[in-house]
Amino acid sequence: MNPTFSSLERGEACPASHVLPRVLVTHEWTEVGIEIHDFLRLVAPDPAFTSRALARIADDELRARCAAIDLPTALDRLMNVRAECAYAIDLETASVRFLGHNLERAYTNLAPNEIAGTLDVDADHVDRTPTAGDWKSGFSELTPAEDNLQIGVGAYAVAKARGADRAIGRLWFIGQDGRIRTDEAEFDALDLEHVLDRTRHTVRRIREAEARYSAGETLTVHRGPWCTYCPARPHCPAMIAFAREMLPALEQDRAALEMLLPDQLGEVWERARLAAKIAEEVIDSLKKFAATHPIPLPDGRKEVRSHQGSTTWVNGHRALEMLRERGANDEELAPLIGTTRYPVFSAKLRPGVGRRKASKTKPAEVDGHG
Ligand code: SF4
Repeated sequence: MNPTFSSLERGEACPASHVLPRVLVTHEWTEVGIEIHDFLRLVAPDPAFTSRALARIADDELRARCAAIDLPTALDRLMNVRAECAYAIDLETASVRFLGHNLERAYTNLAPNEIAGTLDVDADHVDRTPTAGDWKSGFSELTPAEDNLQIGVGAYAVAKARGADRAIGRLWFIGQDGRIRTDEAEFDALDLEHVLDRTRHTVRRIREAEARYSAGETLTVHRGPWCTYCPARPHCPAMIAFAREMLPALEQDRAALEMLLPDQLGEVWERARLAAKIAEEVIDSLKKFAATHPIPLPDGRKEVRSHQGSTTWVNGHRALEMLRERGANDEELAPLIGTTRYPVFSAKLRPGVGRRKASKTKPAEVDGHG
């Protein structure tokens, strides 16, 4: 299976990730990312949509984060801004074709030598240089724009589509508070050729891995920051081996928790979070299987199977809006609105510590059976 623009970076670092069985796992933060992208899809080409796009977001915190996004700074010196533009690159002929807008990543009728992808932003710099941009709102470590293959291939697509010999690629990091950091790189003709070479090389290695996997060979996997959103994680030999090793370590941590020093507790936190994430992915994968095939449990008496559950919910924001439309005033509504405060635990930078510059980590080789 050919990679898309957004999975090229992972494919370059770990070709096996495109070959091992894949499971589509959604996390809370991927859904947040989808909502932010949806908001930007509407407002980047036309900021006049901002208030309507914000009104579509039900979650207060997420709406505030989107409202704080400084679009004029992100789109500084860009014109003809379009969103969600899909392109295909033919790796044999090096040609590019425009596939359409808002295809929701459904690329049909691709030739075997074509790879496809969607640019969050497709624009022209004020000096007319074609520009491709990508919004990032997640937590994974990212390669800087100048080395980032997803950004490079986006730049290649817009350059070739417009008959230009250079292009700009922009990466935007959207912080929790909505603030944006821009990382921009310019690709000249030589850089664009280099991007094409890297892409061809990556696809060739994925095809070689496919052939080895089909022949029952052992695949080498490469762990690194690119693993975060890898759909092959539940089937990845490195992840499975890691989870196996982690269980005894966690048992020891549990027994010794009260005697550990703060630094050691930090290590336990990292280990436990990773274990929880892997367990969540395995359970998601099992649920998908159990939806069609009950899974017998080892006690021989029970099995996991899907059954119909239901939840009744009320859209509080819409209900308040309707009450206001019917004349309720703030005093009357006050008993319906409350704030619950609860502690939230997450990893944050220590006071006085700056953000680490994104860098490409050298892949660590781990052998395993595919
Ligand atoms: S999770 Fe496994 S298969 Fe996926 S990128 Fe990481 S090492 Fe490769």
